[in-house]
Amino acid sequence: MQNWINSKKYFSEAKKVIPGGVNSPVRAYVAVGGEPLFIERAKGAYIYDVDGNKYIDYVLSWGPMILGHSNETVLKAVSKAMKKGTSFGAPTKKEVELAKLITEIYPSIEKVRLVSSGTEAAMSAIRLARGYTGREKIIKFEGCYHGHFDSLLVKAGSGAATFGVPSSKGVTKGIAQDTITLPFNDIEKTEEVIRRERENLACVILEPVPANMGVVLPKDNFLKRLRQVTSENNVLLIFDEVITGFRVALGGAQEVFGVKPDLTVLGKIIGGGFPIGAFGGRAEIMDELSPDGPVYQAGTLSGNPVAVSAGIATIKELMEKDTYEKLDKITGELVTGLSKIIVKTNHEAVINRIGSLFTIFFSDKNEIYDYNDVSSCDLKKFAEFFQGMLAHGIYLAPSQFEANFVSTKHSSVDINKTIEAFEHTLRREKKTY
Ligand SMILES: *Cc1c(COP(=O)(O)O)cnc(C)c1O
Repeated sequence: MQNWINSKKYFSEAKKVIPGGVNSPVRAYVAVGGEPLFIERAKGAYIYDVDGNKYIDYVLSWGPMILGHSNETVLKAVSKAMKKGTSFGAPTKKEVELAKLITEIYPSIEKVRLVSSGTEAAMSAIRLARGYTGREKIIKFEGCYHGHFDSLLVKAGSGAATFGVPSSKGVTKGIAQDTITLPFNDIEKTEEVIRRERENLACVILEPVPANMGVVLPKDNFLKRLRQVTSENNVLLIFDEVITGFRVALGGAQEVFGVKPDLTVLGKIIGGGFPIGAFGGRAEIMDELSPDGPVYQAGTLSGNPVAVSAGIATIKELMEKDTYEKLDKITGELVTGLSKIIVKTNHEAVINRIGSLFTIFFSDKNEIYDYNDVSSCDLKKFAEFFQGMLAHGIYLAPSQFEANFVSTKHSSVDINKTIEAFEHTLRREKKTY
């Protein structure tokens, strides 16, 4: 058992000056009990806390660190960029380079604008969709998270689901009324609502593979039919690929499922561990943005040269041969191993996985396809599982409603250790039940 004395000390200090002691709610471990670890450093697949404990990290800063922590190539690019100055508030060549990379890899994106977070990108994409169509309502899906701004903080996943605040206080009724929320994977209902609301509807926004209620896969043809019905009714389709972009494939979920959205929201990986976001799509829509068009959007640190350099270095390394095949193979080994342990120890759990993204759901259901299914999970069992894994040196997302990530630096040795820890955890848990 680790000693967490320093983490506890820092957390009690943090709580005095930072609400809940954290700068983003899920970090506080409220859903799993105990107190958060304070992190000292991280390298490759490992993260080290302030008490000197080492963990195999499957959080990876919630997705961005796909190349593992402190990647040499990324660090070099960042250090080179920083020496030239860290922010100018004026255009740089690097921004154009990142924009070109994104537009080449995502055929649906003809033009892209860079911002400083995924929240900002999703918010701006919604404003643009409203400006472009002249309509106000939007459709989102239960359990999909698109950042913490008002109109999308209705039945959101992630922290909002973790804390049972599906709709945040402080979001006005007017804003909530313009947001229609539907169950993910229910294409019949979605088609019906789109047809009925088409005169008022600016866009449909979704995570094509939701990862903020845990990982949930789209059913056969859900995305294709959604594309069809939005096109037929002249409603914009927005894919929030902040997690799935450059994760489930270089070209994101839109590449995997062969569906072209009108607008795409990106973030996380494209900043290589620095604050970033991006939204882009058809030129005709993007040209509605200021200064060319009437939809206002701006940012002091947008296209920040350090963040952009980290992003370019990350994407270039991801573009090398076989990256995604390797990620897929190693995650496959992990998930196959974990699944065997579930069967062997006679537990009820389902693992959803796509590429290097996975969630273990402690549910007696056979399949997890929407927020309703996710809500069937045994959260107490999840919390015990989480604490057990942590005690074995495995750092997982501290909530049932989150995804876990594998990096290019996770080795077969790490995977085997994780599977072993899982078996110990589940067996001990059975005893205490
Ligand atoms: C993380 C996330 C966001 C918000 O990005 P931030 O950079 O945290 O603001 C938006 N959408 C999805 C799908 C995300 O996972």
